[in-house]
Amino acid sequence: MIDTLIIGGGAAGLSCALVLGSGLKKPFAKDKTVAIITHQKTSHLQNALFNNVLGLEPGTLGADLLESGKEQLKDLYPEVLQIDKEKVTSVLNCDTYFEVTTNKNTYKSTRVVIAVGYTNLISIKGIEGFIAPHPKAAIEKDRIWLKNTDNIIENNLYVAGTLAGDRSQFAIASGSGAKVATDILTLWNNGKHTKIHDKV
Ligand SMILES: Cc1cc2nc3c(=O)[nH]c(=O)nc-3n(C[C@H](O)[C@H](O)[C@H](O)COP(=O)(O)OP(=O)(O)OC[C@H]3O[C@@H](n4cnc5c(N)ncnc54)[C@H](O)[C@@H]3O)c2cc1C
Repeated sequence: MIDTLIIGGGAAGLSCALVLGSGLKKPFAKDKTVAIITHQKTSHLQNALFNNVLGLEPGTLGADLLESGKEQLKDLYPEVLQIDKEKVTSVLNCDTYFEVTTNKNTYKSTRVVIAVGYTNLISIKGIEGFIAPHPKAAIEKDRIWLKNTDNIIENNLYVAGTLAGDRSQFAIASGSGAKVATDILTLWNNGKHTKIHDKV
């Protein structure tokens, strides 16, 4: 049984995994397990070019960020299990946990973070009822979001990134993943507001 399973290896998913990974060393996170399904084939980062993101060298390629993001996660927070080359086909609510099925395996997780982007090609069984037209994207683009309040779709089911209803901007999507991670850290820490800051 995983504690938190993140679905999607794009801006929001990787950012969520990095912040959760950085929190795993805290005493309140003892015994917590985090995994991420790092599917990246359909990430909007694949053909993005970044000149307007604070901290990124102008001209940075999104495709390079996808690779370096996984490396950063593996090097700094190897406790976060990276599940590669799998695509999620269903997320089923089984009351006390979620059963997440991919094209290869089935996982059980107490919490799930869905960060699969806002393209209307989503074909994950179990979440159809939450899909609605994206509130902050051009209508002709046919984008979607999963209806949520403060990134929570239902108990222990979170959504992050563009699929949460935010506009498509790298900093917003990665910030959304980080925000969900701190919400989960706060939950682990018995409701005490929590963030993880490294210091010089
Ligand atoms: C051409 C282009 C240029 C851009 N330029 C800029 C720019 O200059 N500045 C800027 O700020 N932003 C830019 N962006 C926007 C930025 O790339 C997005 O805002 C950001 O990638 C959104 O992050 P996300 O995590 O919501 O989605 P994504 O990064 O798309 O990640 C979603 C992830 O979910 C995975 N996934 C999908 N389905 C499944 C499934 N069934 N199971 C498991 N995983 C799945 C995908 O493979 C992907 O890795 C650009 C986007 C594009 C397309």
